[in-house]
Amino acid sequence: MSALQAVCALLLGLWTAASAQAAPRCADDVPWQRVAPGVWHWSPVAEAEIAPANAGHVLPTSVVVHGGQALLIDPGPSEAHGQRVRRSLACRFGAQVRWIVNTHAHAENVLGNSAFADRVAAGTVQILATGATRAGMAQRCPDCLASLTTKAGVDAMAGTRIVLPTRTLTEGEVLRVGPYRLQVMRIEQGHTEGDLVLWDARRRLLWAGGLVYGQRLPELAQGSLDGWLAALDRLAALRPRVVLGNTVSVAPEASSLPPALTGTRAYLGELRAAVLNAMDQGLQASDATTVTLPAYSTWAGHAERQGFNAQRAWREMEPVWMVKSDPPAPPAASPPRGGASGSAKPVPPHPGTRPIAPETH
Ligand SMILES: [Zn+2]
Repeated sequence: MSALQAVCALLLGLWTAASAQAAPRCADDVPWQRVAPGVWHWSPVAEAEIAPANAGHVLPTSVVVHGGQALLIDPGPSEAHGQRVRRSLACRFGAQVRWIVNTHAHAENVLGNSAFADRVAAGTVQILATGATRAGMAQRCPDCLASLTTKAGVDAMAGTRIVLPTRTLTEGEVLRVGPYRLQVMRIEQGHTEGDLVLWDARRRLLWAGGLVYGQRLPELAQGSLDGWLAALDRLAALRPRVVLGNTVSVAPEASSLPPALTGTRAYLGELRAAVLNAMDQGLQASDATTVTLPAYSTWAGHAERQGFNAQRAWREMEPVWMVKSDPPAPPAASPPRGGASGSAKPVPPHPGTRPIAPETH
């Protein structure tokens, strides 16, 4: 070997050693997107219904990270999803999850708790939620785990266990991650029986859980139409710049709202109006599926969920329609409603109408 060859071999050896040292210590395969300093989300490739192709990942998993600690909001649908998040946070951010927030009791949001079961048992991770969410999970998660497994596939859900929240959050409580402050708001009877909202007032970031959808039909199964509409008005009054819900939506300018927030409100408002209008036309609950709202037919889940949403809305709107339609009571006794000389208004159906496709979230 010539002197030149020896030098080249030495340099090659040094370069190889340096390359090995510079190689990443772990593999991070999660495509986190940055929302603000310390705030990231991992969103699905497309807004879609739960299917084997997306393994149940149909909404963003988001995280607030600072100083090696992470607050994870809605850890996703499964053990595998949660494990990817856990590995990625350790790898990319050098962070350990200390807190998990479950915004509401839907399987695709909360079953990722499973990946942190060991750390929950060790007391190094707390799972935070409203009391209503904890109760909803205890009641429905056995069924919703089975339902999600049917939809997403056995492989996607392998090893997933139900891990319930460990601490109940109250309205007005503030969660602190380094310099970041997230105020807790509770919505009762909105998208579900108990929806948790987090509000970073300084940066106008709003975590809205299932209250805000993108191009996917909102799910009303466990919710209240009027409660949800009132909740969205309350959220809009905060004037958020970014909403992280079933999608991530950014206000295009300072004077406007994130379009997903206004879009969700538009859908629910049109559903309400259309159902009341159908009652005015004399239709019955069995006709609720004729309320199709074709303007939203391109949204994911329209075919699967619109009929059910209409029936759910119908049941809620019946007493509203009754009050709206009843004339003032006459001073003297009058025949019963619908009698020979009673109101000519159509009588809406009884409220016990069964939904066409009860969901098992
Ligand atoms: Zn939900």
